Amino acid sequence: MATLTRRDLLKVGAVGAASLTVSALGFDLAQAVEVKQQLRIAGATETHSVCPYCAVGCSLIAYTRKAANGSVELLQIEGDPDSPINEGRLCPKGATSLQLATSSRRVETPLYRAPGAKTWQTATWDDVLDRLARHLKDSRDHTFVTIDQNGNVVNRCEGVAFAGGAAFSNEEGYLSAKIIRGLGIVFIEQQARV
Ligand code: SF4
Repeated sequence: MATLTRRDLLKVGAVGAASLTVSALGFDLAQAVEVKQQLRIAGATETHSVCPYCAVGCSLIAYTRKAANGSVELLQIEGDPDSPINEGRLCPKGATSLQLATSSRRVETPLYRAPGAKTWQTATWDDVLDRLARHLKDSRDHTFVTIDQNGNVVNRCEGVAFAGGAAFSNEEGYLSAKIIRGLGIVFIEQQARV
Protein backbone atom coordinates (compact mmCIF):
# COMPACT_ATOMS: atom_id res chain seq x y z
CA MET A 1 0.00 0.00 0.00
CA ALA A 2 1.34 3.44 -0.95
CA THR A 3 2.37 5.56 2.00
CA LEU A 4 0.72 8.97 2.37
CA THR A 5 3.42 11.40 3.48
CA ARG A 6 2.80 14.57 5.40
CA ARG A 7 3.55 16.52 2.24
CA ASP A 8 0.99 14.53 0.20
CA LEU A 9 -1.59 15.23 2.87
CA LEU A 10 -0.96 18.97 2.69
CA LYS A 11 -1.33 18.90 -1.10
CA VAL A 12 -4.64 17.02 -0.86
CA GLY A 13 -5.84 19.49 1.76
CA ALA A 14 -4.92 22.47 -0.40
CA VAL A 15 -6.77 21.08 -3.46
CA GLY A 16 -9.82 20.26 -1.36
CA ALA A 17 -9.92 23.72 0.15
CA ALA A 18 -9.62 25.36 -3.28
CA SER A 19 -12.52 23.25 -4.67
CA LEU A 20 -14.76 24.15 -1.78
CA THR A 21 -14.08 27.84 -2.22
CA VAL A 22 -14.81 27.72 -5.95
CA SER A 23 -18.08 25.80 -5.42
CA ALA A 24 -19.19 28.14 -2.70
CA LEU A 25 -18.68 31.11 -5.00
CA GLY A 26 -20.89 29.52 -7.66
CA PHE A 27 -18.37 29.20 -10.47
CA ASP A 28 -19.06 26.69 -13.25
CA LEU A 29 -16.17 24.37 -12.72
CA ALA A 30 -16.65 22.72 -16.12
CA GLN A 31 -15.98 26.01 -17.88
CA ALA A 32 -13.31 27.22 -15.57
CA VAL A 33 -9.98 27.82 -17.21
CA GLU A 34 -7.37 25.41 -15.94
CA VAL A 35 -4.41 27.28 -14.61
CA LYS A 36 -1.45 25.05 -14.12
CA GLN A 37 0.92 26.49 -11.60
CA GLN A 38 4.55 25.83 -12.29
CA LEU A 39 6.37 25.88 -8.99
CA ARG A 40 9.74 27.56 -8.95
CA ILE A 41 11.26 24.45 -7.40
CA ALA A 42 9.56 21.97 -9.74
CA GLY A 43 12.08 19.36 -10.87
CA ALA A 44 14.81 20.78 -8.64
CA THR A 45 17.28 18.55 -6.83
CA GLU A 46 16.40 18.15 -3.14
CA THR A 47 19.31 17.98 -0.72
CA HIS A 48 18.72 17.40 2.98
CA SER A 49 20.73 19.40 5.46
CA VAL A 50 20.64 20.94 8.94
CA CYS A 51 20.15 24.59 9.90
CA PRO A 52 23.54 26.02 10.88
CA TYR A 53 22.31 28.56 13.40
CA CYS A 54 21.48 26.87 16.69
CA ALA A 55 21.52 23.63 18.63
CA VAL A 56 17.87 22.78 17.92
CA GLY A 57 19.21 21.31 14.68
CA CYS A 58 16.15 21.81 12.48
CA SER A 59 16.23 19.86 9.23
CA LEU A 60 16.28 21.72 5.92
CA ILE A 61 15.76 20.89 2.30
CA ALA A 62 17.87 22.85 -0.19
CA TYR A 63 16.52 22.99 -3.74
CA THR A 64 19.11 23.37 -6.48
CA ARG A 65 19.11 23.27 -10.24
CA LYS A 66 21.89 23.23 -12.78
CA ALA A 67 21.89 26.41 -14.84
CA ALA A 68 22.57 26.49 -18.58
CA ASN A 69 26.18 27.55 -17.96
CA GLY A 70 26.78 24.49 -15.76
CA SER A 71 26.72 26.31 -12.43
CA VAL A 72 24.43 25.09 -9.66
CA GLU A 73 21.74 27.57 -8.66
CA LEU A 74 20.35 27.50 -5.13
CA LEU A 75 16.63 28.16 -5.54
CA GLN A 76 15.12 27.73 -2.11
CA ILE A 77 15.73 26.43 1.39
CA GLU A 78 12.81 25.34 3.54
CA GLY A 79 12.03 23.17 6.53
CA ASP A 80 11.89 19.42 6.02
CA PRO A 81 8.27 18.28 6.64
CA ASP A 82 9.45 14.72 7.36
CA SER A 83 11.80 15.79 10.17
CA PRO A 84 10.68 14.71 13.66
CA ILE A 85 12.55 17.74 15.04
CA ASN A 86 10.89 20.66 13.26
CA GLU A 87 8.17 18.98 11.13
CA GLY A 88 8.70 21.41 8.27
CA ARG A 89 8.86 24.53 10.39
CA LEU A 90 11.72 26.97 10.77
CA CYS A 91 12.12 29.98 13.03
CA PRO A 92 12.62 33.36 11.28
CA LYS A 93 16.37 32.95 11.45
CA GLY A 94 16.39 29.51 9.87
CA ALA A 95 13.83 30.60 7.29
CA THR A 96 16.32 33.14 5.93
CA SER A 97 19.21 30.71 5.69
CA LEU A 98 19.04 30.96 1.89
CA GLN A 99 20.65 34.37 2.30
CA LEU A 100 23.72 32.76 3.83
CA ALA A 101 24.57 31.67 0.31
CA THR A 102 22.89 34.27 -1.89
CA SER A 103 23.02 37.61 -0.05
CA SER A 104 24.84 40.36 -1.91
CA ARG A 105 26.24 41.40 1.49
CA ARG A 106 27.82 38.01 2.14
CA VAL A 107 31.47 38.29 3.19
CA GLU A 108 33.41 35.91 0.99
CA THR A 109 36.99 36.45 2.15
CA PRO A 110 38.61 36.88 5.56
CA LEU A 111 38.84 40.49 6.67
CA TYR A 112 41.55 41.98 8.85
CA ARG A 113 41.53 45.24 10.80
CA ALA A 114 44.94 46.26 12.03
CA PRO A 115 45.26 47.58 15.60
CA GLY A 116 44.05 51.21 15.63
CA ALA A 117 42.81 51.06 12.03
CA LYS A 118 39.30 52.20 11.14
CA THR A 119 38.85 50.11 8.04
CA TRP A 120 38.99 46.43 7.22
CA GLN A 121 41.19 44.97 4.55
CA THR A 122 40.77 41.69 2.74
CA ALA A 123 43.18 38.91 3.59
CA THR A 124 43.87 35.38 2.44
CA TRP A 125 43.08 32.31 4.53
CA ASP A 126 46.82 31.58 4.74
CA ASP A 127 47.40 35.06 6.20
CA VAL A 128 44.70 34.83 8.84
CA LEU A 129 45.46 31.24 9.84
CA ASP A 130 49.14 32.12 10.31
CA ARG A 131 48.15 35.18 12.33
CA LEU A 132 45.72 33.20 14.49
CA ALA A 133 48.32 30.52 15.15
CA ARG A 134 50.91 33.16 16.09
CA HIS A 135 48.55 34.94 18.52
CA LEU A 136 47.36 31.68 20.04
CA LYS A 137 50.93 30.52 20.66
CA ASP A 138 51.97 33.88 22.12
CA SER A 139 48.90 34.08 24.40
CA ARG A 140 49.44 30.52 25.58
CA ASP A 141 53.13 31.13 26.29
CA HIS A 142 52.36 34.30 28.28
CA THR A 143 49.52 32.90 30.35
CA PHE A 144 50.43 29.25 30.92
CA VAL A 145 50.31 28.31 34.60
CA THR A 146 52.16 25.22 35.75
CA ILE A 147 51.59 25.49 39.52
CA ASP A 148 48.66 27.25 41.20
CA GLN A 149 48.65 29.35 44.35
CA ASN A 150 48.31 26.26 46.55
CA GLY A 151 51.29 24.52 45.01
CA ASN A 152 49.22 22.12 42.89
CA VAL A 153 50.58 21.19 39.46
CA VAL A 154 47.87 22.38 37.04
CA ASN A 155 49.55 22.95 33.66
CA ARG A 156 46.78 25.11 32.23
CA CYS A 157 46.45 28.07 29.89
CA GLU A 158 44.39 30.83 31.52
CA GLY A 159 44.66 33.44 28.77
CA VAL A 160 42.58 31.79 26.04
CA ALA A 161 38.94 30.72 25.91
CA PHE A 162 37.13 28.66 23.30
CA ALA A 163 33.47 28.77 22.22
CA GLY A 164 32.24 25.96 19.98
CA GLY A 165 29.55 26.43 17.35
CA ALA A 166 26.09 24.95 17.80
CA ALA A 167 26.19 23.51 14.32
CA PHE A 168 29.24 21.39 15.07
CA SER A 169 28.84 17.74 14.21
CA ASN A 170 29.84 15.19 16.85
CA GLU A 171 33.14 14.69 15.07
CA GLU A 172 33.90 18.42 14.84
CA GLY A 173 33.08 18.86 18.51
CA TYR A 174 35.26 15.91 19.50
CA LEU A 175 38.20 17.14 17.40
CA SER A 176 37.89 20.73 18.65
CA ALA A 177 37.77 19.66 22.29
CA LYS A 178 40.82 17.43 21.76
CA ILE A 179 42.84 20.29 20.25
CA ILE A 180 41.76 22.87 22.78
CA ARG A 181 42.30 20.61 25.80
CA GLY A 182 45.63 19.57 24.29
CA LEU A 183 46.70 23.22 24.43
CA GLY A 184 45.83 23.27 28.13
CA ILE A 185 42.87 25.61 27.64
CA VAL A 186 40.30 25.17 30.41
CA PHE A 187 37.73 27.85 29.54
CA ILE A 188 35.60 25.91 27.06
CA GLU A 189 32.05 26.94 26.23
CA GLN A 190 29.40 26.13 23.69
CA GLN A 191 27.31 28.56 21.67
CA ALA A 192 24.09 26.78 22.59
CA ARG A 193 24.62 27.57 26.31
CA VAL A 194 25.48 31.25 25.83
S1 SF4 B 1 15.48 27.06 12.36
FE1 SF4 B 1 15.74 28.36 14.16
S2 SF4 B 1 15.33 26.97 15.89
FE2 SF4 B 1 15.75 25.68 14.08
S3 SF4 B 1 17.96 25.22 14.17
FE3 SF4 B 1 17.68 27.04 12.88
S4 SF4 B 1 17.94 28.78 14.26
FE4 SF4 B 1 17.57 26.97 15.54
